[in-house]
Amino acid sequence: MKKISILGSTGSIGTQTLDVISHYPEQFEVVALAGGHNVELLAEQVKRFRPSVVSVATQAAADQLIGRVPSGVKVLYGDEGLLETAAGNDADTVVTAVVGSQGLKPTLAAIEAGKQIGLANKETLITAGHLVTEACQRHGVELLPIDSEHSAIFQCLNGESSDRIHKITLTASGGSFRDRKREELAGVTVKEALNHPNWSMGAKITIDSATMVNKGLEVMEAHWLFGLSYDQIEVLIHPESIIHSFVEFVDHSIIAQLGLPDMRVPIQYALTYPDRMPTPTGRLRLAEVGKLQFRDMDFERYPCMRMAFESGRAGGSVPTVFNAANEIAVARFLQEDISFLQIEDIIETVLSKHQRVVAPTLEEITEIDAWARRTAGATL
Ligand code: MG
Repeated sequence: MKKISILGSTGSIGTQTLDVISHYPEQFEVVALAGGHNVELLAEQVKRFRPSVVSVATQAAADQLIGRVPSGVKVLYGDEGLLETAAGNDADTVVTAVVGSQGLKPTLAAIEAGKQIGLANKETLITAGHLVTEACQRHGVELLPIDSEHSAIFQCLNGESSDRIHKITLTASGGSFRDRKREELAGVTVKEALNHPNWSMGAKITIDSATMVNKGLEVMEAHWLFGLSYDQIEVLIHPESIIHSFVEFVDHSIIAQLGLPDMRVPIQYALTYPDRMPTPTGRLRLAEVGKLQFRDMDFERYPCMRMAFESGRAGGSVPTVFNAANEIAVARFLQEDISFLQIEDIIETVLSKHQRVVAPTLEEITEIDAWARRTAGATL
Protein backbone atom coordinates (compact mmCIF):
# COMPACT_ATOMS: atom_id res chain seq x y z
CA MET A 1 0.00 0.00 0.00
CA LYS A 2 1.46 3.30 -1.09
CA LYS A 3 0.77 6.23 1.23
CA ILE A 4 -0.07 9.48 -0.52
CA SER A 5 -0.24 13.10 0.59
CA ILE A 6 -1.77 15.70 -1.73
CA LEU A 7 -1.00 19.40 -1.55
CA GLY A 8 -3.80 21.20 -3.35
CA SER A 9 -6.39 18.42 -3.16
CA THR A 10 -9.39 20.62 -4.10
CA GLY A 11 -7.84 21.94 -7.32
CA SER A 12 -7.96 20.43 -10.77
CA ILE A 13 -4.92 18.12 -10.39
CA GLY A 14 -5.83 17.33 -6.76
CA THR A 15 -9.37 16.16 -7.55
CA GLN A 16 -8.13 14.14 -10.52
CA THR A 17 -5.46 12.54 -8.32
CA LEU A 18 -8.16 11.48 -5.86
CA ASP A 19 -10.19 10.15 -8.78
CA VAL A 20 -7.24 7.96 -9.83
CA ILE A 21 -6.75 6.80 -6.23
CA SER A 22 -10.45 5.97 -5.84
CA HIS A 23 -10.10 3.29 -8.56
CA TYR A 24 -7.35 1.53 -6.59
CA PRO A 25 -8.36 1.42 -2.91
CA GLU A 26 -6.09 -1.61 -2.40
CA GLN A 27 -3.01 0.14 -3.76
CA PHE A 28 -3.20 3.64 -2.30
CA GLU A 29 -3.94 5.16 1.07
CA VAL A 30 -4.47 8.92 1.43
CA VAL A 31 -2.71 10.04 4.62
CA ALA A 32 -2.82 13.84 4.31
CA LEU A 33 -4.64 16.48 2.29
CA ALA A 34 -4.13 20.21 1.96
CA GLY A 35 -6.63 22.49 0.29
CA GLY A 36 -7.20 26.23 0.09
CA HIS A 37 -10.56 27.80 0.92
CA ASN A 38 -12.98 25.20 -0.41
CA VAL A 39 -14.02 23.80 2.99
CA GLU A 40 -17.07 22.05 1.60
CA LEU A 41 -15.16 19.95 -0.94
CA LEU A 42 -12.35 19.27 1.51
CA ALA A 43 -14.84 18.00 4.11
CA GLU A 44 -16.26 15.60 1.49
CA GLN A 45 -12.76 14.42 0.54
CA VAL A 46 -11.90 13.78 4.20
CA LYS A 47 -15.09 11.78 4.67
CA ARG A 48 -14.36 9.67 1.61
CA PHE A 49 -10.57 9.16 1.82
CA ARG A 50 -10.01 9.31 5.60
CA PRO A 51 -6.64 11.11 5.85
CA SER A 52 -5.28 11.64 9.36
CA VAL A 53 -4.19 15.22 8.62
CA VAL A 54 -5.90 17.96 6.67
CA SER A 55 -4.82 21.54 6.13
CA VAL A 56 -6.53 24.69 4.79
CA ALA A 57 -5.38 28.19 3.87
CA THR A 58 -6.58 30.18 6.89
CA GLN A 59 -7.54 29.80 10.53
CA ALA A 60 -11.11 30.81 9.69
CA ALA A 61 -11.36 27.98 7.15
CA ALA A 62 -9.84 25.57 9.69
CA ASP A 63 -12.48 26.57 12.27
CA GLN A 64 -15.21 25.83 9.73
CA LEU A 65 -13.64 22.49 8.81
CA ILE A 66 -13.16 21.20 12.38
CA GLY A 67 -16.90 20.74 12.94
CA ARG A 68 -17.28 18.86 9.67
CA VAL A 69 -14.63 16.15 9.94
CA PRO A 70 -14.34 13.16 12.31
CA SER A 71 -12.76 14.12 15.66
CA GLY A 72 -9.57 12.08 15.12
CA VAL A 73 -8.55 14.12 12.06
CA LYS A 74 -5.89 16.75 12.74
CA VAL A 75 -6.91 20.07 11.18
CA LEU A 76 -4.12 22.54 10.36
CA TYR A 77 -3.85 25.78 8.41
CA GLY A 78 -1.52 28.22 6.65
CA ASP A 79 2.12 27.71 5.67
CA GLU A 80 2.77 25.57 8.76
CA GLY A 81 -0.14 23.31 7.85
CA LEU A 82 1.13 22.96 4.29
CA LEU A 83 4.62 22.05 5.55
CA GLU A 84 3.20 19.44 7.92
CA THR A 85 1.05 17.96 5.15
CA ALA A 86 4.15 17.73 2.97
CA ALA A 87 6.70 16.41 5.42
CA GLY A 88 5.21 15.72 8.86
CA ASN A 89 3.62 12.32 8.23
CA ASP A 90 4.44 8.87 6.85
CA ALA A 91 3.44 9.51 3.21
CA ASP A 92 5.66 7.75 0.63
CA THR A 93 4.70 10.10 -2.20
CA VAL A 94 3.69 13.73 -2.01
CA VAL A 95 1.70 15.12 -4.92
CA THR A 96 2.49 18.83 -5.10
CA ALA A 97 -0.50 20.32 -6.88
CA VAL A 98 -0.79 23.72 -5.22
CA VAL A 99 -0.72 26.63 -7.64
CA GLY A 100 2.10 29.15 -7.53
CA SER A 101 5.30 29.75 -5.61
CA GLN A 102 3.69 28.78 -2.28
CA GLY A 103 4.51 25.23 -3.42
CA LEU A 104 8.26 25.69 -3.13
CA LYS A 105 8.90 25.41 0.62
CA PRO A 106 6.62 22.41 1.26
CA THR A 107 8.11 20.60 -1.75
CA LEU A 108 11.64 21.19 -0.46
CA ALA A 109 10.54 19.98 2.99
CA ALA A 110 9.09 16.80 1.46
CA ILE A 111 12.33 16.17 -0.47
CA GLU A 112 14.34 16.65 2.72
CA ALA A 113 12.06 14.13 4.44
CA GLY A 114 12.93 11.66 1.64
CA LYS A 115 9.46 11.53 0.05
CA GLN A 116 9.01 10.76 -3.63
CA ILE A 117 7.48 13.77 -5.36
CA GLY A 118 4.64 13.73 -7.86
CA LEU A 119 5.47 17.14 -9.25
CA ALA A 120 2.58 19.20 -10.53
CA ASN A 121 3.69 22.54 -9.07
CA LYS A 122 5.82 24.10 -11.82
CA GLU A 123 7.11 26.98 -9.74
CA THR A 124 9.17 24.65 -7.57
CA LEU A 125 11.70 24.04 -10.33
CA ILE A 126 11.30 27.40 -12.02
CA THR A 127 12.10 29.52 -8.99
CA ALA A 128 14.55 27.19 -7.26
CA GLY A 129 15.70 24.56 -9.76
CA HIS A 130 19.29 24.70 -8.52
CA LEU A 131 18.26 24.16 -4.87
CA VAL A 132 15.63 21.52 -5.62
CA THR A 133 17.78 19.34 -7.91
CA GLU A 134 20.64 19.52 -5.41
CA ALA A 135 18.31 18.50 -2.55
CA CYS A 136 16.96 15.60 -4.65
CA GLN A 137 20.47 14.29 -5.27
CA ARG A 138 21.36 14.61 -1.60
CA HIS A 139 18.26 12.73 -0.41
CA GLY A 140 17.95 10.22 -3.27
CA VAL A 141 14.57 11.58 -4.26
CA GLU A 142 13.11 11.28 -7.72
CA LEU A 143 10.87 13.99 -9.16
CA LEU A 144 8.06 12.23 -10.99
CA PRO A 145 6.51 14.73 -13.39
CA ILE A 146 2.75 15.06 -13.50
CA ASP A 147 2.60 17.75 -16.15
CA SER A 148 1.53 15.95 -19.35
CA GLU A 149 4.48 17.20 -21.43
CA HIS A 150 7.10 16.27 -18.85
CA SER A 151 5.45 12.95 -18.15
CA ALA A 152 5.62 12.33 -21.90
CA ILE A 153 9.35 13.12 -22.05
CA PHE A 154 9.95 11.05 -18.90
CA GLN A 155 8.14 8.08 -20.50
CA CYS A 156 10.01 8.48 -23.81
CA LEU A 157 13.36 8.57 -22.05
CA ASN A 158 12.57 5.62 -19.82
CA GLY A 159 16.06 5.42 -18.37
CA GLU A 160 18.06 6.58 -21.44
CA SER A 161 20.86 8.84 -20.33
CA SER A 162 20.55 12.53 -21.12
CA ASP A 163 23.74 12.56 -23.22
CA ARG A 164 21.88 10.54 -25.86
CA ILE A 165 19.28 13.27 -26.28
CA HIS A 166 19.65 15.60 -29.23
CA LYS A 167 16.52 17.64 -28.53
CA ILE A 168 13.21 17.43 -26.81
CA THR A 169 10.06 19.04 -28.18
CA LEU A 170 7.24 20.17 -25.93
CA THR A 171 3.94 20.39 -27.77
CA ALA A 172 1.55 23.27 -27.16
CA SER A 173 -2.14 23.34 -28.04
CA GLY A 174 -1.93 27.09 -28.65
CA GLY A 175 -4.55 27.85 -25.98
CA SER A 176 -7.95 29.45 -26.22
CA PHE A 177 -6.93 32.14 -28.76
CA ARG A 178 -4.79 30.04 -31.08
CA ASP A 179 -6.86 30.90 -34.14
CA ARG A 180 -6.76 34.64 -33.51
CA LYS A 181 -4.15 37.04 -34.78
CA ARG A 182 -2.36 39.32 -32.36
CA GLU A 183 -4.49 42.32 -33.39
CA GLU A 184 -7.60 40.34 -32.44
CA LEU A 185 -6.53 39.92 -28.81
CA ALA A 186 -6.99 43.49 -27.61
CA GLY A 187 -10.54 43.28 -26.25
CA VAL A 188 -10.83 39.59 -25.32
CA THR A 189 -12.80 38.78 -22.17
CA VAL A 190 -11.96 36.60 -19.17
CA LYS A 191 -14.70 34.18 -20.18
CA GLU A 192 -13.27 33.76 -23.68
CA ALA A 193 -9.78 33.24 -22.27
CA LEU A 194 -11.00 30.54 -19.88
CA ASN A 195 -12.48 28.46 -22.69
CA HIS A 196 -9.62 26.05 -23.43
CA PRO A 197 -10.14 23.91 -26.56
CA ASN A 198 -8.62 20.62 -25.33
CA TRP A 199 -7.74 20.45 -21.66
CA SER A 200 -9.87 20.86 -18.55
CA MET A 201 -7.65 22.77 -16.13
CA GLY A 202 -7.68 25.42 -13.40
CA ALA A 203 -8.23 29.12 -14.25
CA LYS A 204 -4.64 30.29 -13.81
CA ILE A 205 -3.12 27.65 -16.07
CA THR A 206 -5.83 28.15 -18.70
CA ILE A 207 -4.88 31.83 -18.97
CA ASP A 208 -1.21 30.79 -19.00
CA SER A 209 -1.98 28.56 -21.99
CA ALA A 210 -3.56 31.43 -23.88
CA THR A 211 -0.52 33.69 -23.29
CA MET A 212 1.90 30.76 -23.83
CA VAL A 213 3.41 31.50 -20.41
CA ASN A 214 2.46 27.97 -19.40
CA LYS A 215 4.65 26.51 -22.14
CA GLY A 216 7.42 28.95 -21.20
CA LEU A 217 7.31 27.75 -17.60
CA GLU A 218 7.33 24.17 -18.88
CA VAL A 219 10.49 24.89 -20.90
CA MET A 220 12.23 26.05 -17.72
CA GLU A 221 10.89 23.06 -15.84
CA ALA A 222 12.17 20.68 -18.54
CA HIS A 223 15.61 22.32 -18.37
CA TRP A 224 15.90 21.29 -14.71
CA LEU A 225 14.03 17.98 -14.80
CA PHE A 226 16.04 16.51 -17.66
CA GLY A 227 19.31 18.45 -17.30
CA LEU A 228 19.11 19.96 -20.78
CA SER A 229 20.37 23.25 -22.19
CA TYR A 230 17.82 25.70 -23.59
CA ASP A 231 19.18 25.00 -27.09
CA GLN A 232 17.97 21.42 -26.67
CA ILE A 233 14.37 22.39 -25.90
CA GLU A 234 11.88 23.28 -28.62
CA VAL A 235 8.21 24.13 -28.61
CA LEU A 236 5.84 23.09 -31.38
CA ILE A 237 2.21 24.07 -31.75
CA HIS A 238 0.07 20.95 -32.08
CA PRO A 239 -3.62 21.89 -31.90
CA GLU A 240 -4.97 18.36 -31.30
CA SER A 241 -2.94 17.72 -28.09
CA ILE A 242 -2.54 14.05 -29.04
CA ILE A 243 1.26 13.92 -29.08
CA HIS A 244 2.06 15.10 -25.58
CA SER A 245 5.77 15.69 -26.33
CA PHE A 246 8.68 13.84 -27.91
CA VAL A 247 12.41 13.19 -27.72
CA GLU A 248 14.82 13.20 -30.63
CA PHE A 249 17.89 11.15 -29.82
CA VAL A 250 21.40 11.68 -31.19
CA ASP A 251 20.75 9.09 -33.92
CA HIS A 252 17.74 11.23 -35.03
CA SER A 253 15.31 8.58 -33.93
CA ILE A 254 12.24 10.22 -32.40
CA ILE A 255 10.18 8.67 -29.62
CA ALA A 256 6.86 10.34 -28.81
CA GLN A 257 4.15 9.69 -26.23
CA LEU A 258 0.56 9.86 -27.44
CA GLY A 259 -2.84 9.67 -25.83
CA LEU A 260 -6.13 11.46 -25.39
CA PRO A 261 -5.73 14.68 -23.41
CA ASP A 262 -6.61 13.44 -19.93
CA MET A 263 -4.47 14.41 -16.94
CA ARG A 264 -5.35 11.22 -15.09
CA VAL A 265 -2.86 9.30 -17.24
CA PRO A 266 0.26 11.28 -16.23
CA ILE A 267 -1.05 11.51 -12.65
CA GLN A 268 -1.46 7.75 -12.41
CA TYR A 269 1.92 7.07 -14.01
CA ALA A 270 3.60 9.25 -11.37
CA LEU A 271 1.80 7.29 -8.64
CA THR A 272 2.51 3.81 -10.04
CA TYR A 273 5.96 4.41 -11.60
CA PRO A 274 7.80 2.32 -12.73
CA ASP A 275 4.69 0.15 -13.00
CA ARG A 276 1.64 0.81 -15.19
CA MET A 277 -1.98 -0.02 -14.44
CA PRO A 278 -5.24 0.35 -16.40
CA THR A 279 -6.89 3.78 -16.21
CA PRO A 280 -10.57 4.75 -16.47
CA THR A 281 -9.66 7.07 -19.36
CA GLY A 282 -10.66 6.71 -23.00
CA ARG A 283 -8.51 5.01 -25.64
CA LEU A 284 -6.91 6.96 -28.44
CA ARG A 285 -8.16 5.88 -31.86
CA LEU A 286 -5.91 7.47 -34.43
CA ALA A 287 -8.21 6.66 -37.34
CA GLU A 288 -10.90 8.75 -35.64
CA VAL A 289 -8.48 11.63 -35.09
CA GLY A 290 -7.49 11.29 -38.76
CA LYS A 291 -5.03 14.12 -38.99
CA LEU A 292 -2.45 15.67 -36.69
CA GLN A 293 -1.27 19.22 -37.35
CA PHE A 294 1.87 21.07 -36.37
CA ARG A 295 3.02 24.70 -36.58
CA ASP A 296 6.31 26.31 -35.61
CA MET A 297 6.24 28.46 -32.50
CA ASP A 298 5.76 32.11 -33.43
CA PHE A 299 7.71 34.25 -30.98
CA GLU A 300 6.10 37.45 -32.23
CA ARG A 301 2.57 36.16 -31.85
CA TYR A 302 3.50 34.87 -28.40
CA PRO A 303 6.00 37.34 -26.85
CA CYS A 304 5.68 35.61 -23.45
CA MET A 305 7.33 32.57 -25.05
CA ARG A 306 10.27 34.75 -26.12
CA MET A 307 10.51 36.26 -22.61
CA ALA A 308 10.37 32.80 -21.05
CA PHE A 309 13.33 31.55 -23.11
CA GLU A 310 15.25 34.76 -22.33
CA SER A 311 14.46 34.41 -18.62
CA GLY A 312 15.45 30.74 -18.60
CA ARG A 313 18.73 31.44 -20.37
CA ALA A 314 19.51 34.35 -18.02
CA GLY A 315 18.86 31.97 -15.11
CA GLY A 316 19.51 32.85 -11.46
CA SER A 317 16.67 34.93 -10.08
CA VAL A 318 15.19 35.94 -13.46
CA PRO A 319 12.77 32.98 -13.82
CA THR A 320 11.41 33.80 -10.33
CA VAL A 321 10.63 37.32 -11.50
CA PHE A 322 9.06 36.10 -14.76
CA ASN A 323 6.84 33.70 -12.82
CA ALA A 324 5.83 36.06 -9.99
CA ALA A 325 5.07 38.97 -12.33
CA ASN A 326 2.92 36.64 -14.41
CA GLU A 327 1.00 35.32 -11.39
CA ILE A 328 0.01 38.84 -10.37
CA ALA A 329 -0.75 39.90 -13.92
CA VAL A 330 -3.01 36.86 -14.44
CA ALA A 331 -4.80 37.50 -11.12
CA ARG A 332 -5.37 41.10 -12.20
CA PHE A 333 -6.70 39.98 -15.59
CA LEU A 334 -9.08 37.49 -13.92
CA GLN A 335 -10.34 40.36 -11.72
CA GLU A 336 -10.85 42.42 -14.90
CA ASP A 337 -8.38 45.00 -13.63
CA ILE A 338 -6.17 44.82 -16.75
CA SER A 339 -6.64 43.65 -20.34
CA PHE A 340 -5.35 40.37 -21.77
CA LEU A 341 -2.42 41.95 -23.64
CA GLN A 342 -1.38 43.89 -20.54
CA ILE A 343 -0.34 40.59 -18.95
CA GLU A 344 2.73 40.54 -21.20
CA ASP A 345 3.35 44.28 -20.70
CA ILE A 346 3.49 43.78 -16.94
CA ILE A 347 5.90 40.83 -17.20
CA GLU A 348 8.17 42.79 -19.55
CA THR A 349 8.19 45.88 -17.30
CA VAL A 350 8.93 43.94 -14.12
CA LEU A 351 11.72 41.94 -15.83
CA SER A 352 13.30 45.16 -17.09
CA LYS A 353 13.48 46.55 -13.53
CA HIS A 354 15.13 43.47 -12.02
CA GLN A 355 18.84 43.08 -11.20
CA ARG A 356 19.72 39.41 -11.63
CA VAL A 357 21.09 37.40 -8.70
CA VAL A 358 23.14 34.49 -10.06
CA ALA A 359 22.50 31.74 -7.50
CA PRO A 360 19.84 33.02 -5.11
CA THR A 361 19.31 31.44 -1.68
CA LEU A 362 15.83 30.45 -0.55
CA GLU A 363 15.52 33.74 1.38
CA GLU A 364 16.62 35.75 -1.64
CA ILE A 365 14.12 33.88 -3.82
CA THR A 366 11.36 34.70 -1.34
CA GLU A 367 12.38 38.39 -1.26
CA ILE A 368 12.71 38.67 -5.04
CA ASP A 369 9.39 36.90 -5.51
CA ALA A 370 7.71 39.39 -3.14
CA TRP A 371 9.39 42.35 -4.87
CA ALA A 372 8.24 41.12 -8.30
CA ARG A 373 4.67 40.72 -6.99
CA ARG A 374 4.61 44.22 -5.50
CA THR A 375 6.05 45.68 -8.68
CA ALA A 376 3.60 43.78 -10.89
CA GLY A 377 0.74 44.95 -8.70
CA ALA A 378 1.82 48.58 -9.05
CA THR A 379 2.51 48.50 -12.80
CA LEU A 380 -0.09 50.04 -15.15
MG1 MG B 1 1.37 20.96 -19.39
